[in-house]
Amino acid sequence: MDLDKREFYYEKFKKAMWEGFTPDDYLEYYDYIKERFGVDIDFFEDAPNDLVVSAENDEDRIEHLEEALRTKNRSDIEKITEENKRWRGKKFPRPNLKPGALEPLFRDNVPEHFCLFPFTQMNIDPDGRARPCCKWEVGNVWDYNNGSLEDKNIQELFDQPYIEDIKKQFLRGEKPKPCKACWDEEDSGMESIRYMYQMGGKQRPTATWFEHITSPTPVGLDLKLSSICNNKCRICSPFLSSKWLQEHEDLGLVSGGVLKGYRLNAKEKFITNPENIEILKHWAPRIQGIDFFGGEPLLQAEHNLILKIIAEAGYGENITLYYNTNGAIYDEEICKHWESFGHVNLNYSIDDIGKRFDYERHPAKYVEVVDNVKKYYDYVFTDKVTMDKIIKNKKYFHRFNSTRHGEYPSPEIMKQRGMKIAMINRFYITVGFFNIFYIDEILRELTTNFNMEVQFNPVHFPHHYACHILPEKMKKVIIKKLNKIKFRTIMDNKYIKCAPGGSTVNKEIDHLITFMNSSKENPDLIKHALKTIRLHDDYRKESFEEVFPEIWEFLKEYE
Ligand code: SF4
Repeated sequence: MDLDKREFYYEKFKKAMWEGFTPDDYLEYYDYIKERFGVDIDFFEDAPNDLVVSAENDEDRIEHLEEALRTKNRSDIEKITEENKRWRGKKFPRPNLKPGALEPLFRDNVPEHFCLFPFTQMNIDPDGRARPCCKWEVGNVWDYNNGSLEDKNIQELFDQPYIEDIKKQFLRGEKPKPCKACWDEEDSGMESIRYMYQMGGKQRPTATWFEHITSPTPVGLDLKLSSICNNKCRICSPFLSSKWLQEHEDLGLVSGGVLKGYRLNAKEKFITNPENIEILKHWAPRIQGIDFFGGEPLLQAEHNLILKIIAEAGYGENITLYYNTNGAIYDEEICKHWESFGHVNLNYSIDDIGKRFDYERHPAKYVEVVDNVKKYYDYVFTDKVTMDKIIKNKKYFHRFNSTRHGEYPSPEIMKQRGMKIAMINRFYITVGFFNIFYIDEILRELTTNFNMEVQFNPVHFPHHYACHILPEKMKKVIIKKLNKIKFRTIMDNKYIKCAPGGSTVNKEIDHLITFMNSSKENPDLIKHALKTIRLHDDYRKESFEEVFPEIWEFLKEYE
């Protein structure tokens, strides 16, 4: 379906959502969904009679018809006869229902495993290809031969046939196989990103049906503009880090087409196509959030340009910016850009402390990164006295923290507290092979020194760094440590918050344990992990056993 037609219907149904749907609007909506996605929808077919009337039995209309017959008002008779044809066999909402009365019906019609991402979000990888989200086909080599930023503009990437097909699968109630990461996390009891995003469409079902499913352009962008990065974190790869690429080239680990591809990743290519600038301006009024990942997002020149284009178009204030940064960059120019936006969510990839952090996130240094976290705090608060007061008073401070894109401080509160922009700071802790043994210690240190939310992200890929491959006897010790009453009591402190909203650190630790136990130890993958570690230790002049003596005891027999 062409873009103009989709734009037309999107505006039409969104307006009707606010102003009220007529029976004909519903019929038009069903036709639209059928034509676009090949799916039959009827919200009211099985609805209870206190909410709907059947077209045949609508007493008002019968009375209307009788009146028209009596007065021989021909145009009314024709109108009603026409309606009878269109509405026959259908049910529609009763007039004058209480606000929100239809929400449960719309919610029940959202399929159980539905996901909003393909309808409203677009993830662009450093190689320029687009996916509905960052978890789609995670860890798998996927080639849809659908082009990339090299040969398509961003609207063409959003509309590509394979993404249209995913939408159809979700509307048919299917669980697409490439979404395995979400299904695995949900099976462990964790909240997947699918669920975190408005509970898979069930949180605001009216908007799901009439605004999100019909959205002709994305409202959220997840941009990995290139692999340019200053770190080569152990769990990362040359696909996502130019620094890693250098090491792989030096070690002769990549060649040919793969090497060519990785080098291409290290090049920014979003703005090089001038069409993308115009499309971005067209999208800007509807965009609610832009997530920047990397490489290191704060090192990307195109990041600054994108913010400038949107700010100059006048739409920055409505947009929330979300970052996963390695924390090694503090840049005042970027802070200035943020002032046009006002809502910034900074997630620091700090998943260990001290020398273990330095090892895992080479060549970043824990002390420097922690210093940058403090600098961002300093930047946000214009008034040092207010900031000190807030940091010392946990109860006071937590009024500023919340879930991913919600509940930022209001302009009044910001003014009162001396804040330049509404900023949420959070530790984004990726949990896997290197750090799950130390999670209790890491959490104690981070939550004592910083009054920030934490969020856990289990490693799925590389497979050999996922925590569930670890030896069973090591898992037992980890579980014992994580279940210590003293530790759990500290984590129970109501001022220690865990994202996603509504969760607690203790609940998420339970989920991590479930995830760790989701499969048995895998000696082959442990051996592979140790071999990989040794290779890069030799290159970097580092020593896993010296930095991680406690876990080396469990692992050395596998080498
Ligand atoms: S279910 Fe998960 S992997 Fe699939 S599109 Fe949604 S968020 Fe992405």
